[in-house]
Amino acid sequence: MNTPAPLFCDRCLKELKFGQAEFYLVRIEALLDPTPPEFTQEDLARDVTSELNELVQQLNHLSAHEATEQIHRKLTLFLCLTCYRNWIENPTG
Ligand SMILES: [Zn+2]
Repeated sequence: MNTPAPLFCDRCLKELKFGQAEFYLVRIEALLDPTPPEFTQEDLARDVTSELNELVQQLNHLSAHEATEQIHRKLTLFLCLTCYRNWIENPTG
């Protein structure tokens, strides 16, 4: 029989037991503003070549993974009941 790896609260490190309803699994998805940028006539009239070159230079320093992480991240947290209650009341605190 497989014993699941020990699980700990991501905030207080309390050990959590499976199947005892004593923790919450919290999934967080963070997405950079998904609204497409708006372009003005002024923007379209500008020569953006140098700006684009600069952007490409910046992106060249990042791995594909890092570049993706700047746009989209998914996290899974395990919180004990006490930590969950404190967190859910004030998730942005
Ligand atoms: Zn905790």
